[in-house]
Amino acid sequence: MARFTGKVAIITGSSSGIGRATALLLASEGAKVTITGRDEGRLDESRKAILQAGVAKANVNAIVADVTSAQGQDLLISSTLKKFGRIDILINNAGANIPDPSGKTRVDCTIDNLQEMFKLNLQSVVEITQKARPHLAKSRGEIVNISSIGAGPSAQPQSVYYSSAKAALDQYSRCAAIDLISEGIRINVVQPGFVSTGFSTAARGLSSDESLKFYNGMGELPHCIPAGYCGQPDHLASVIAFLADRKASEYIVGQTIIADGGTSLVLGMHANFGQKK
Ligand code: NDP
Repeated sequence: MARFTGKVAIITGSSSGIGRATALLLASEGAKVTITGRDEGRLDESRKAILQAGVAKANVNAIVADVTSAQGQDLLISSTLKKFGRIDILINNAGANIPDPSGKTRVDCTIDNLQEMFKLNLQSVVEITQKARPHLAKSRGEIVNISSIGAGPSAQPQSVYYSSAKAALDQYSRCAAIDLISEGIRINVVQPGFVSTGFSTAARGLSSDESLKFYNGMGELPHCIPAGYCGQPDHLASVIAFLADRKASEYIVGQTIIADGGTSLVLGMHANFGQKK
């Protein structure tokens, strides 16, 4: 029997990147999945990729929704219950480093930008968790929250509000993990490093070619990614699936797994060590 047979999973931000790869992996391994995003076209690409992998149509629930809206959140929960009857796994993956429309950067970004960043990367996770909680308690389910190595401890002055929101998400996840484990709900976190997705396209206005060039270029800099290559969505999906699989990771509660090819372990000074003049 496949590892997720009989399980129902909601994967937010699954119209692209890490979420799409995670939905594909869980569905390929037996889960019934609710996939979602705001962009209908990209969401349909995810749906088609899952069906092409041999997953039955009846096991995929594709819902266009904004995770920052109460209506969108309610629709995710209600449509999943209506189609599949239960919720076992919630992957809170939707997130973004939202550029400030004012053009301001770093610590000069506006308070509107701060609020928008926290609404998406923290508040939506809190709200969806509250709404999914009774259903996850019933199934003794799993939550995996997708953070970022931007959360620290190293500083990220180029993305102050995004990094701060992800740091808050990490601490929320630890606190909620302790509260909700008494109801049988397990919460853990994954912190990706550089992963070649639509993230840079959204954050920095790069075309997909420019984005690919950026990620490949980072992979060639050992002081940025010691592993020697940029992460791909599948590298993260397998870690997320491990934490969503109670049999594999049952005794891990409220922890964070960093999957970044070593990026967060190198300091700037290492770039100059051992270099021949
Ligand atoms: P992508 O841009 O490829 O995917 C982001 C997903 O989030 C999309 O499906 C997008 O859907 C969805 N999303 C964004 N805003 C909303 C919203 N308001 N409502 C609903 N869905 C939304 O990036 P990644 O796959 O890389 O990002 C996944 C997670 O990984 C994010 O939380 C990100 O912060 C984190 N991360 C990524 C890193 C990277 O290098 N790629 C590094 C560290 C962390 P749509 O546009 O259709 O709404």
